[in-house]
Amino acid sequence: MRKPFIAGNWKMNKTIRDSIELVNSLRRELLDIENADIIVCPPYIALSEISDLVVDSNIGLGAQNVYWEESGAFTGEVSPLMLKDAGCRYVIIGHSERRKYFSETDEAVNKKIKASQNVGLIPIVCVGETDEERESKKTTSVVESQLQGGLKGLDSESVSKLIIAYEPVWAIGTGKTATPEQAQEVHRFIRDWLRNNYSSDVAENVRIIYGGSVKPSNTKDLIKQSDIDGALVGGASLESSFFGEIVKNSL
Ligand code: PEP
Repeated sequence: MRKPFIAGNWKMNKTIRDSIELVNSLRRELLDIENADIIVCPPYIALSEISDLVVDSNIGLGAQNVYWEESGAFTGEVSPLMLKDAGCRYVIIGHSERRKYFSETDEAVNKKIKASQNVGLIPIVCVGETDEERESKKTTSVVESQLQGGLKGLDSESVSKLIIAYEPVWAIGTGKTATPEQAQEVHRFIRDWLRNNYSSDVAENVRIIYGGSVKPSNTKDLIKQSDIDGALVGGASLESSFFGEIVKNSL
């Protein structure tokens, strides 16, 4: 039985003060929840402060991005070790906004996964097709090639420590959620791909979460699907009552 995994991606929102306020409110909201992994991913600059606030709580900390080098002349970048040092356990890699606005490739995703795992961070690896790709029936081939490129060279043990997020690009921040059946179909495809390329154990243990306009009202139907193990939540994670309800609806 895979434990539900719910992550809030705050994107480029919230000052440090706003971040503290939100996380304090979430701590109260989620106080009694034990049987889910709950993660928040604030902007880099708030990570260290938030880490102090969640250290003895049921909320885990993740970053929204990372660079693959350990240190050096890479102005503006943040290394896996720096994220660990700031208190992160998780890191989102290959989000579609990174792919679209910052030209992130599967090769970069692959390097970021490896560098993050080298210091013990748990990558949340995002894959998903655009509207156009879905329209032209390329969803599974796009997802497959993102998995092939992103996970290239990783052995079963490394893959079993990942979380995969299926995020159809057309559903992110648009209010247009994939239907539970559409999402389940791709989640099943990803799990079968893991089974065929690694093992049944890997396929059964890796958590595959859905992202794309998740709200309190659609969480239950999504999570009911046999291959959907949680959610990556953008907009609705900026409001503690919405995120709290999403978590509760996923149990
Ligand atoms: C996301 O940021 O990964 C996301 C799914 O955003 P939203 O929930 O706002 O669609």
